[in-house]
Amino acid sequence: MIIIRAKYLISTPGSCIENGAVAVTGAKIHRVGLWCEMSAIPGVEKVIDLGNAVIMPGLINTHTHLDLSNLHNRIKPTSNFTHWVFQVIGARMRWNDEDYVSSIEKGAKLSIESGVTTVADISNTGHAFSVLKKSPLRKVVYKEIIGLKSEQAADIMKKLKEEIPQIKTDELLSVGLSPHAPYSVSRELYQAVCGFAGESRLPVCTHLAETLDEIEFLTKGTGIFPAFLRQIRALPEGWKPPETTPIRYLNEMGVINNRTLLIHCNYVSDEEIALIQSSGASVAFCPRSHRFFGHTNHPVHRFLDAGVNVGIGTDSLASNDSLSVLDELKYLSAIHTISPQTLISMATVNGAKAIGLESQVGQLREGFEADICGVGLPEQLAEASTASGNEPVYQRLFSPASKNIFTMVAGIVCYNAAT
Ligand SMILES: [Zn+2]
Repeated sequence: MIIIRAKYLISTPGSCIENGAVAVTGAKIHRVGLWCEMSAIPGVEKVIDLGNAVIMPGLINTHTHLDLSNLHNRIKPTSNFTHWVFQVIGARMRWNDEDYVSSIEKGAKLSIESGVTTVADISNTGHAFSVLKKSPLRKVVYKEIIGLKSEQAADIMKKLKEEIPQIKTDELLSVGLSPHAPYSVSRELYQAVCGFAGESRLPVCTHLAETLDEIEFLTKGTGIFPAFLRQIRALPEGWKPPETTPIRYLNEMGVINNRTLLIHCNYVSDEEIALIQSSGASVAFCPRSHRFFGHTNHPVHRFLDAGVNVGIGTDSLASNDSLSVLDELKYLSAIHTISPQTLISMATVNGAKAIGLESQVGQLREGFEADICGVGLPEQLAEASTASGNEPVYQRLFSPASKNIFTMVAGIVCYNAAT
């Protein structure tokens, strides 16, 4: 048995205690509580003391593309989404297998160092299944599916149904399906993928309502998307818009349900938020990627007020500075009036629910998987704090100087900068 102790322990978002500890046996959490009550447990082999730090549930990244990690600092911020896609296509033009492998390995390493213990990763090329299988991270790898030409749907599905059963899942690796977005996937393909996902009990995620251009394309068939899709030879002859918004379009198809993770949802009406809430679907909010693309006023407050399950995603290093969910929380804490407890919920329990792992991870509870991070705190805040109770701990947790120093996944220490 290993015991991890620190000055503070946040086992669930609203519970912060001083001098806390977590006892771990094998891959599971054995006990959570005060260090003084735990120090006498028999059979303890090792005590890891993180010192002036907060022990927390491992952070969950509900949306990323680790295969783009080598594009860090190579893509210019833009509010034109199609310009971003062209930059990515251009930058990866000469990539070979090793480039994809090293990109995913880099992303996994950075994630672990930042306190992320679970990633919901989208795999464009399929490399992530074998590369991440070797990583100690917990992961749901979603196979990306693209095809706006409806006549391609049958062939794509045939290949998909051959590929998916070949993937060797394990305790840390599960598989999902990601039809890319309503401007890149036909109605026929969406329905076939989601039918297959339902039969195979696979989770689904899809990019949705990300840009105003996407809404214009689907409602009117105009804007920047037709020319872009023609240029990459993806627009079918005689394509007609569904003349409805992305969320309504997918809802009419039966794609939105309690196993669906909707990525971004930057532009939504109150009626659409109610629709998502009643479906039980979750939303992946990517705060700094949202800023990178020049979007403002993400409806996160409206989603939270409506009771929608919202998790946090970093998106990829092609539209972000880091793969740290803690960095996302720091950014949100500086610009939004979301409580620290809600921020932690989004990065832990909500994230777990969004990818169907809520009975295993996202909380430090007896019997849960021992997925733990430890965030080192600055000694004191630069400005004198007037907050009381545990509020100063949360403030220090989200201050620029805090830093993840410890990551454990399934009882294995993957990163320890405390020693
Ligand atoms: Zn994405």
